[in-house]
Amino acid sequence: MGETGVRTVDRQEFEGITCNRCGECCERFHLPGTKEQLLAWMDQGWGGNYLERSWVADLLELGPYGEPDEEERQPSLFACPKLAHEAHGTATCTIYADRPKTCRLFPYGGPVNGFPNCVWSDERIQLVEVAS
Ligand code: SF4
Ligand code: SF4
Repeated sequence: MGETGVRTVDRQEFEGITCNRCGECCERFHLPGTKEQLLAWMDQGWGGNYLERSWVADLLELGPYGEPDEEERQPSLFACPKLAHEAHGTATCTIYADRPKTCRLFPYGGPVNGFPNCVWSDERIQLVEVAS
């Protein structure tokens, strides 16, 4: 750890990090609009490469999240109803084998923002690519 508490990792170390199953990425995440807006945008092709419409339609909308972005979109905070917690608190996806692509691809190849408890949080690690 450096002075900031952020650990520097290379690509191999990054890929070797194991999820701690805290569940934060499934129960408190933001998307750039209300569910109604997201579904309307998806009908026009938005997010089609990484979001499944049925998954978005099932999400629980918890409320507004932060400030509107430069396009004046108001992000919303969501939870996925497919998440369960085991008796000792470990988070479990109840549709793990069939989870959507957006879940399979997480953390999308680099440190993630907005999930401070995540093992891939940009508050915990910094990825340094080493030239081969
Ligand atoms: S489908 Fe599973 S992995 Fe994806 S957000 Fe929901 S609980 Fe998490
Ligand atoms: S927030 Fe990160 S560590 Fe926690 S369950 Fe999601 S991927 Fe795993």
